[in-house]
Amino acid sequence: MIRYALFCKACEGEFEAWFASSAAFDSQKEKRQVRCAVCNSSRVEKQIMAPAVKTTKAKEAPADPEKLMQAFAEKARQHVADNFDYVGGAFAEEARSMHYGEQAHRPIWGETTAEEREALQEEGVPAAPLPAAFTPPVPKPKGPVN
Ligand SMILES: [Zn+2]
Repeated sequence: MIRYALFCKACEGEFEAWFASSAAFDSQKEKRQVRCAVCNSSRVEKQIMAPAVKTTKAKEAPADPEKLMQAFAEKARQHVADNFDYVGGAFAEEARSMHYGEQAHRPIWGETTAEEREALQEEGVPAAPLPAAFTPPVPKPKGPVN
């Protein structure tokens, strides 16, 4: 007697069956007497008895640096959108007021004019221009609350 692990091409089921010999299997297979235990299809094949080694996935192609950069920028943008308060044109004012301890520090983003940016820099207010790719869409003004 010989035991085969069988594989059904019809339903992809796997099962085992005993045969008198490998010749017996071949002859029964020939006569389509070897049937799937699950769906009764005769499209049954012997499973190749490979050693139980996990197949390693084909190595992924190296990531496209441009796509990586885009994904990074998208994360950064999301981070800004989620964690920074949008203060619009009041950015310079807000940043300065935090710098001088008039209000608690919190992450903000918004717009400045070139002059404002220069002034902030001269005063040593920590502020950096956001690269365009990191700039989230300006939040829509909240409608009147009912
Ligand atoms: Zn089947």
